[in-house]
Amino acid sequence: MAKRDYYEVLGVDKNASKDDIKKAYRKMAMKYHPDRNPGDNEAEEKFKEAAEAYEVLHDDDKRAKYDRFGHDGLRGAAGGGFEGFHDVNDIFSHFSDIFGSAFGAGGGGGGSSIFDDFFGGGSSQRTSRRARGTAGSDLKVTIKLTLNEIAAGTSKKIKLKRYQKCSVCGGTGAKTSNAFKTCSVCGGSGEVRQVSRSVFGQFVNIAPCSNCSGTGRVISDPCNACNGEGRTFGESTIKVNIPAGVHDNSYMTLRGEGNAGKNGGPSGDLIVVFKELPHEFFVRDGDNIIYDLYVSFPEAALGAEVEVPTLTGRAKLKIEAGIEAGKFLKMREKGIQHLNRHGAGDQLVKVHIHVPKRVSSKEKELLKELQAQPNIRVPNGK
Ligand SMILES: [Zn+2]
Ligand SMILES: [Zn+2]
Repeated sequence: MAKRDYYEVLGVDKNASKDDIKKAYRKMAMKYHPDRNPGDNEAEEKFKEAAEAYEVLHDDDKRAKYDRFGHDGLRGAAGGGFEGFHDVNDIFSHFSDIFGSAFGAGGGGGGSSIFDDFFGGGSSQRTSRRARGTAGSDLKVTIKLTLNEIAAGTSKKIKLKRYQKCSVCGGTGAKTSNAFKTCSVCGGSGEVRQVSRSVFGQFVNIAPCSNCSGTGRVISDPCNACNGEGRTFGESTIKVNIPAGVHDNSYMTLRGEGNAGKNGGPSGDLIVVFKELPHEFFVRDGDNIIYDLYVSFPEAALGAEVEVPTLTGRAKLKIEAGIEAGKFLKMREKGIQHLNRHGAGDQLVKVHIHVPKRVSSKEKELLKELQAQPNIRVPNGK
C-alpha cells in the first residue's frame, strides 16, 4: 500500500510551523484514539498513520530528509532507521509528553493529557495494555549476623518458601502457547471502562480487566504443573551478599526475589532485615568497637605489653607506665568497615585496674608493705 504524504495525513501545508503540526496531530490523535473507536481497525490505522507523520514532521532532521527525498529518505539506517510504529502502545510510550505519563508504559496515575478535555474535563486513568498477570507479593526474612560477619561483610545462603515462576509453562499458566482464548469480559482489550458522573463532569476510569488480569485473554488449556497459575510454591535457596558495616535492624531489598506473580505478573521483592548478635567481648558504637581491658596495678604502674582480642584475632597492645583507669587506647581501623565507603572504625580499649576480691596472707603482707611506701599512698584532700 502506498504511503500517504505526511503533510496530507495531518492536514497541514508544507510550511506549517512546529506548533501547527503539533496542534494538527493532537486533533487527529483525539479523533482516532482507540478508546474512542473501540474495535475500529480503520481508526486505529489512521491513529498510527498520524503518529508516524508527527514523529517525522516534528523532528527537524527527519522533516528535512522527508522534504528532500520523500518516504525513501527515511528508510533504513541512513534515514535514522525509522520504520513506523508497531502498535498503539508504542505510540503511547513514544509520545508520553503528548499523551501524559499516564499513557506511557507502566501506566497508572492521572496527569494532564490532551484526553482530559476529551473525557469532559474529568480525569482519566489508564494502565498499560502491556500489563500482564498479577504482581507477586513481597517477602521478608531476618538474618542474624555476628559482629565478625558485619565487620567484614559476608554472604549467606537462606532457604525460603515462596512462589516461583512455573518452569514447565514459563509462567504463562497455559499448556501451550496456543492454549488461550479471548477474554469474554473485556473482549480482549484487557481493560474495563467505568464511567461516573459528578458535578465536575464525567469521569472515565479505565481499569485492568480482573477476569483476565489485563492480559485480554484467558487460558483454555491450563498447564498441569501449576494449574494455570503460572507459578508453583516451594522451597528455594538463595544467596544473599551482605556488605560490611550493616546496622542492627537495617534492611536491604532484593528486587524480584519475592513471590512470583500470577500468570507472568512481576515478582515481588525480598526484604532482608539484619539482626546483630551480641558479641562475647565487644560492644559496638557506630563503626567503632569497645573493649574493656583489665590490667593489674603493677602493670598500670610499670607499663606492660598485653594481648587483646580483635575482630581478626589476638593482637599485642602496649600499656605505658603510669596509665590511669578510664583511659581509652585506640587501635586504628580495627573496628567495623564503613558501609559503602573506604576505611573502618577503630577498636577502643578502655583501661580498668583489676582489684582482687580476696587476697592470700602473703599478698596481704606485700600489699601492706607497698602501702607503707610514700609514693604509693594516695594524698586525698591534702
Ligand atoms: Zn505452569
Ligand atoms: Zn478481560
